[in-house]
Amino acid sequence: MSEDFDLLFKVVLIGDCAVGKSCIVTRFKTGNVFTERHTNTIGVDFSMKTITIDNKRIKLQIWDTAGHERFRSITSSYYRSAHGVIIVYDITKRNTFLSLQKWINEVRNYTANSVVCALVGNKCDLVDEREVSAEEAQEVCDLIPEILFQIETSAKENTNIENAFAKIAEELMNRQ
Ligand code: GDP
Repeated sequence: MSEDFDLLFKVVLIGDCAVGKSCIVTRFKTGNVFTERHTNTIGVDFSMKTITIDNKRIKLQIWDTAGHERFRSITSSYYRSAHGVIIVYDITKRNTFLSLQKWINEVRNYTANSVVCALVGNKCDLVDEREVSAEEAQEVCDLIPEILFQIETSAKENTNIENAFAKIAEELMNRQ
């Protein structure tokens, strides 16, 4: 039986509550849907999307915490077998950036050394409310060996959403 993809990678999103993780996943999956409302569904959720890079069909299985981070109950099973991790913060909420160390510790504790990790500063459309600069994010990124790259996104305006996932997928593909 022929598969509809060449490679399959599990990518998990982590980060503080309300930074935009669900919106990022929805935007990536659908391309044109942005939900203004903050839903707080309980239950682990994953979405599938296949992208093509260098003629290879890469299927991404994207896990969203579905509100679990609110209750500090992200468990090792969420991270199990993850190939990629996206740590999301909100560029307008400094405290969500300062949580980075906590999330890195989880990555260190629960994922394989080979995991590809990206730092995503979401809500870059809210320029007037910015509390974290891209330069500062890059400086922190340079100090944390686990983080391969950082990128700013807007799920609202569909800025860099596809790019963020494609960069992770490309890196994972090149490591095969
Ligand atoms: P989660 O808890 O991390 O999954 O966050 P959500 O995806 O539920 O988003 C939390 C809130 O931020 C919602 O009110 C969204 O509408 C809003 N939001 C998400 N992404 C963006 C963005 O890129 N720009 C702006 N302005 N708001 C966003």
